[in-house]
Amino acid sequence: MWVRKRIDIGWRGLAGAAMDCARGGDVAPFEERIAALWGRAGRHPFVNLSVRSGFDSLLTTLAFEPGDEIAMSALTIPDMPNIVREHGLLPVPIDVEPESMNVRPEQVEAAISPRTRAVVVAHLFGGRVPLEPIAEVCRRRGVLLIEDCAQAFTGWDFTGSPQADVSMFSFGPIKTHTSLIGSVFTIKDRDLKDRMAREQETWPTQSSAAYFKRAFKYGFVKGLSIGWIAGSVATMLRWMGRDHDRLATNMARGFAGGDFFAKIRQRPSAPILRTLARRFERFNPAAVERRRALGKRFVERVGEQALVLSAAAEEPTFWVLPVMVDNPRELVTAMWRRGFDATCSSSLQVIPAPADRPHLDAAVGRATLDATVFLPFYHHMPQRVVDAMADLVRQTARPLAKPETRRVLEGPTRYATSLSLSRSST
Ligand SMILES: *Cc1c(COP(=O)(O)O)cnc(C)c1O
Repeated sequence: MWVRKRIDIGWRGLAGAAMDCARGGDVAPFEERIAALWGRAGRHPFVNLSVRSGFDSLLTTLAFEPGDEIAMSALTIPDMPNIVREHGLLPVPIDVEPESMNVRPEQVEAAISPRTRAVVVAHLFGGRVPLEPIAEVCRRRGVLLIEDCAQAFTGWDFTGSPQADVSMFSFGPIKTHTSLIGSVFTIKDRDLKDRMAREQETWPTQSSAAYFKRAFKYGFVKGLSIGWIAGSVATMLRWMGRDHDRLATNMARGFAGGDFFAKIRQRPSAPILRTLARRFERFNPAAVERRRALGKRFVERVGEQALVLSAAAEEPTFWVLPVMVDNPRELVTAMWRRGFDATCSSSLQVIPAPADRPHLDAAVGRATLDATVFLPFYHHMPQRVVDAMADLVRQTARPLAKPETRRVLEGPTRYATSLSLSRSST
C-alpha cells in the first residue's frame, strides 16, 4: 500500500537525531550554523521548538490589546487560531482560492477592521501566495504581515518574503526536510527578534529525553509506512474493526494530549539544534525538484477531470496532492481498492467568521475542504505509480458540477473570474 505521507527523513537522519540526544552541549554554535544558512540582508533568523511555539511567543511579545484582531488565511491548522484566541485576540478568516490557494488583496482588505493588528498569510500545500499586493494593503492599513511557510520550505531559494515582517518555517514530523520538531522564523526587525528571544528565555528548555522519545516514535512510524507493512497493518486494523484512517491522522499530531500550552512553551534543546543545523547543511534540493516535476506531470495527466489544489500557485511544489472532485468518498474507496491510502480528512480547518460579520464566512474554503481528497504523494514515488494514480482519478472522479459547489465557487464571494473552474464544467 502507498501510505498517504512518508516522513521526510532517512534512517541515518533518524539515527543521527537519536544519537545527538546523548551529546547535549551549548546551543550557541548550532544557532550560528543555522543563521549562516538562513540569514539574509535585513532578515534575522530565530530557532523555536515549533511554529506554534514561535507564534505564541510572538503574540506575547507584540502584546496587542484584548479584543484586537488577527486576519488569517481561512484554512490553517486549528492550533493557529486557538493560539490567537488564547491571547485574547479574535481570528478573522480570509477566504482562499482553491486553484492557487491564494488569498486576494481585496479579501485581505475586507477582513481588516480598525482593530486588526496583523495579517497571517499561509502558503498552503507547497505553493506560494504572491505577497506584494497584500503587503501594499498591510502598509496602507498599518498592520503587521506574517507569513506561515510551514508547508512551503523548498530550500535556500526562499527563506521568507522580503515584504513579510515575520516568516515562519516548520520542521515538524510531516513537513518537508523534517527534523521531527523545530522551526525557523526569519524576522525583519532585529529588535522584534531580540524581544522574542528574551520572552522565550523565561521558558524551560525541552529535555533531550523528549527528543529521543520522538526519534524513537517516528522510527516506528517510518517502519510502518513501508509499503507491505502498511498494507498488512491496515488490513489487520480493519479486521479488528478499527479505523486506520483516524489512526493515521492522529499519528501525525505533534503535541497530542496533555496541557498544550505547557508543551509548546519550551525552548528547543541542544540535540534539536544540532540535528537542525546538520540537516540544513546537508539539504539536497533534488527531492523538492522531483516532487515538483511529479506533481506537474500528475496535473497534466488528470486534465479537466479534477482540480488539483495549489497547482495554479506561483511556485507549486506539491507538499501534498489534494484533488477537488464532486465524489470524494467514491474516489477514496476506489483508491483504497487499488492500494493507495487516500483520505478526505485534513489537518486543516476553516476559521469561522466573527458573529457580527457573517459576510466574511469562508464559504469557498469550506466547500473546498469538503470536496477534497488527499492522495498519497512523495518524491520517492515512481513515475509510473503517479501516472497510475492520475489514470484512476480520470476514471473515477466526477469534475465539480454539483450546483451547490459551483454556486459557492462562482458566487458573489469570488472576486476573480476563475480560470480552472469554468474549465472543469465541461
Ligand atoms: C504544520 C503547520 C503549522 C505548525 O507547525 P509546527 O512547527 O508543528 O508548530 C502551522 N501552520 C501550518 C499551515 C502548518 O501546516
